[in-house]
Formats: sequence, C-alpha cells, structure tokens
Amino acid sequence: MTPDNQTTVWTRCLEILRDNLNEDTFRTWFGPIKPISLEDQRLTIEVPSDFWREYIEEHFIDLLSRVLRREIGPGASLVYKVRILDDIFIEQRPKGGRVRNAELPIPDAGSHYTGSVYAIPGLRKLNIEPCLNPIYNFENFIEGTCNRLGRSAGLSIAANPGRSTFNPLFIYGGPGLGKTHLAQAIGIAVKERFPEKVVLYVNANTFQNQYMNAACSAKSANNGNKVADFLRFYQLIDVLIIDDVQEFAEKKGTQGAFFHIFNYLHQSGKQLVLTSDKPPVDLQGLDQRLLSRFKWGLSAELLPPAYETRLAILRAKCAREGVAVSEEVLSFVARSVKTNIRELEGILFSLIANATFNRQEITLELAQRLVDKIVADPKCEITVGRIQEAVCNYFGITDEVFLSKTRKREIVQARQIAMYLSRSLTKTSLSSIGAQLGGKDHATVLHACNTVNDLMDTDRSFRGFVHDIERVLNSPE
Ligand code: ADP
Ligand code: MG
Repeated sequence: MTPDNQTTVWTRCLEILRDNLNEDTFRTWFGPIKPISLEDQRLTIEVPSDFWREYIEEHFIDLLSRVLRREIGPGASLVYKVRILDDIFIEQRPKGGRVRNAELPIPDAGSHYTGSVYAIPGLRKLNIEPCLNPIYNFENFIEGTCNRLGRSAGLSIAANPGRSTFNPLFIYGGPGLGKTHLAQAIGIAVKERFPEKVVLYVNANTFQNQYMNAACSAKSANNGNKVADFLRFYQLIDVLIIDDVQEFAEKKGTQGAFFHIFNYLHQSGKQLVLTSDKPPVDLQGLDQRLLSRFKWGLSAELLPPAYETRLAILRAKCAREGVAVSEEVLSFVARSVKTNIRELEGILFSLIANATFNRQEITLELAQRLVDKIVADPKCEITVGRIQEAVCNYFGITDEVFLSKTRKREIVQARQIAMYLSRSLTKTSLSSIGAQLGGKDHATVLHACNTVNDLMDTDRSFRGFVHDIERVLNSPE
C-alpha cells in the first residue's frame, strides 16, 4: 500500500527536522505527532495535548514553518488537531486563534452538582496555611535529564499559575525521586511571586480523611452542610497540590468529591498539581472520568537520576549542611545508590552523623562500611539498576559499553535481557525501563521482551544465561 500524501510529506518534513534538532528533542516532540490530512497546502497534524501544541509553537514554529514551505510550497499552512479526551478533538491554527484552556469545551460527565455551591457567599480570601516545607524549593532541586520536563513545567506554572496549559500538572515516578519536593517547590515559587494567591499542599490521605470526617459527621448530626463546607473550602484555592493521588484508589466518595473540586478549579482557571507513583494509564481503582482529566495537561515522569545528577545532589546537600566531604567519597556514594534520592541523601547524612559523633574524618572506608550496611540489605529490592549491574557482571561488559549506542550483537542481546528481566522482575513501566537502559523508547523494550521470549523457547544456552542472571538477582547477598 502506498502511503497517503500527508504521510509522505510529513515523513520528508521529519527527515529535515531530525537533521536540525538533537535526537532526544526530535523524538520527544515529533515522535507522537500524526499527519491527518493535506488539502490545498494545508497540513493537519494531530498532537497529543494542548500543551504539546503550545510547546511546538514556542520552540519549533520557525523551523517547522520553513520546512513546511519547502515541502508543501509557499502557501503552506498548518492546523493542529488536539486530543482533549479519548474521542474529542479540537482544531487550532498556529498563533492567533489561540484558545485558552479554561475556554475549552469541558464535557459534563453526569454532574449532579447544583449551581448554588459554586456561589461562595462572603467567603473570599481566607488566610489558608499552604502547608509547604520551605526546604523543598526550586533552588534546592537539582536539575538533570531525569527531571527536566517536570521541573521546567513547574517553573512555567510558578510564573503563570492556572494560565499555562500544564493544567493539571501530573508528576509521577518511583519512590524517592523528588515528586513531593517538586510539587512543593511549585507552591513555594507561586507564593513568592504571588503572595495573595491561595496555595494549598495536601497529601491524598489527609484529603481523604477530611472528606470522610465531613461525610460522617454530616450523617450522624444530620447536617448535610459539612460536605458542602468541605467542597467550598477547596473551591477557594488558587493552586491546589495533591500528593500521592494513587491513594484515592477504590475510594469512591473521595474520588467523587475530588472530581467536583477538580472541575470547579479547572474551569475557573485555577491550577492543579498532582503527584502519583504511577502514570495515569496504570492507576487502578480510579474512576475513568478522573483519569481522563489527569491527562488534560501534562504528565511528567521523574526518572532515577544519572550519576552526574546524583553527584550534583550530594554536592549541593554538603554545601547546604556546611560540611566538606572529599570528591572521592562523594563519587563513591553516588555510584552506590542509583535509584532513590532519599536513600542517597540518607547515606550522606548518616556518614556526616557517624563522623561527627565518633569524631572521625569522613573517609572512603567509613563510607564503604556504611554503604555495605545500608545498601546491601539482603531484602534489597530488585531494580532496573541492579538488573543492569547483574547483566553487565555476568557478561563482563562495562556500564559505558552497555549504555553506548553500539549495535554489536552480544551487547544488543545483553540489553535485551536486561529489559526482559526488568519487565518481569520489577513493576517499572516500559518507558521508564527504556529510559534507564540507554534511552530507548517503550516500543524497543516491548520488542526486546518478545525477542527474549522467543529465544528462550528455542535456544537452550540462551535460556541458561537468563536463568543464571535471574538466580543472581534473587539470591540474598
Ligand atoms: P518522592 O515524593 O518522589 O518519594 P521526595 O520528593 O520526598 O520523593 O524526595 C526524596 C528526597 O530526595 C527529598 O529529601 C528531596 O529533597 C530529595 N530530592 C529529590 N529530588 C531532588 C533533586 N532533584 N535535587 C535535590 N534533592 C532532591
Ligand atoms: Mg512523596
């Protein structure tokens, strides 16, 4: 089958764009775009979200316009088709006819909410304590490839809360990777810039307890106003940060209350920042209408930091604590803890505490002893980092070669085994596995898993390798 006209033209555009952008940028921003139609020199492309459109407009429109004129002709024009909900799209022209998020048609998913609650009589500016920890600010949040998207989205929100298209900002990632820190940094930065804005940070469990208290006392005291008060309170907020929304799973009442608060705030141009340990697609036990709203803005994943970022984090903590620790010790600690910044900090702090308490120098030996005690815990969880280490040890490959771009067969196979094991032994998402194992995308990881499965069926010695490595990973150290 010959490709459509628009596909041919778009493929040619992509080739030029690829030559002009770095590979990561190209893949991130142009990979998910689909060409939809080409009529009278007007190319329509589908972009995953309104944020996408805005980002492309801001960063690539000059280049893209030149490429389009070259491939389509001087009268070339572009139309974006933006997916808002699974089956609802809006069309937008570049620049000019921009539609603000708050004006987008927001479908009414069977709301039984009456208008009266929206009117908040006499309750204007309450002095609400934002519940933010001042340490969790942007200055202390070290930037790395692992958090770049979330951090820059956070900074734009801080500059323009509620008015950017990162609404909601949905931050997700494994434990100890900085979700709470980043979410709070946004709140702190908003407060610094706009002290009059009402900012509130709340953990999902606290929110749930508050709702339950309101709902229960409403029943027992026959006082239906408690739930209304709860909803009204949350409707006063300009920037609402809810941490760990995976905790809402299976809690229908709380989800319902949150759904109404979300709609109200979003429609009023207020900002929502949510964090979760999983991406929206993997959140079980959450209502579909909430999940689809989570995808309205931007989902930003926090990944385990690379070595350089880990080192930069350690250096920054030392500077803040005012202690001098040698580069040798810092780089040893940075190499020992790969997947959890909380653990990384934990080692540094116990090192400092041990040295102070015992009036010792902070030496490499002391660091090694502590790392052995803390990191080599036998119940140590299997992580993508540990799998990579085990595969590299087994085949005698260095991390550099493993993560390099080489297509040598043995190395490709080692990477595929690591991807397969990460998929079967951890709960890490395909895209996160790919990102950690050499910056591959989720399709590459899926392909690797299928290849390894096939080879395990047909090749005994290959199956032996995989089982050996699995045994190493499962045996207590
Ligand atoms: P999560 O909420 O994802 O479990 P946290 O936000 O609690 O993780 O982060 C764990 C610890 O790591 C915190 O002390 C936080 O300050 C620190 N941390 C996380 N990311 C960074 C970063 N990019 N720079 C500096 N410290 C960080
Ligand atoms: Mg947290």
